[in-house]
Amino acid sequence: MCHGTVHTVTVARTIVCVDCGGDCRLITHQPDEGFAPGDIVAYRCRDCLDRWDLEVVAEDLDDGRPD
Ligand SMILES: [Zn+2]
Repeated sequence: MCHGTVHTVTVARTIVCVDCGGDCRLITHQPDEGFAPGDIVAYRCRDCLDRWDLEVVAEDLDDGRPD
């Protein structure tokens, strides 16, 4: 892991399904340059097959985005 000059975000490869507690695997291909804040990534639960779309957030960006 190294941080370059471009703000990119590494997302979790798996998340826990909020419905059944199973493993949700990342089904969105991660670009070589990584995800950018605001990108949408999709996960598919292997147990209940629910799909979860999450927005990538930049937790380590602390330079005050205008809101
Ligand atoms: Zn599930």
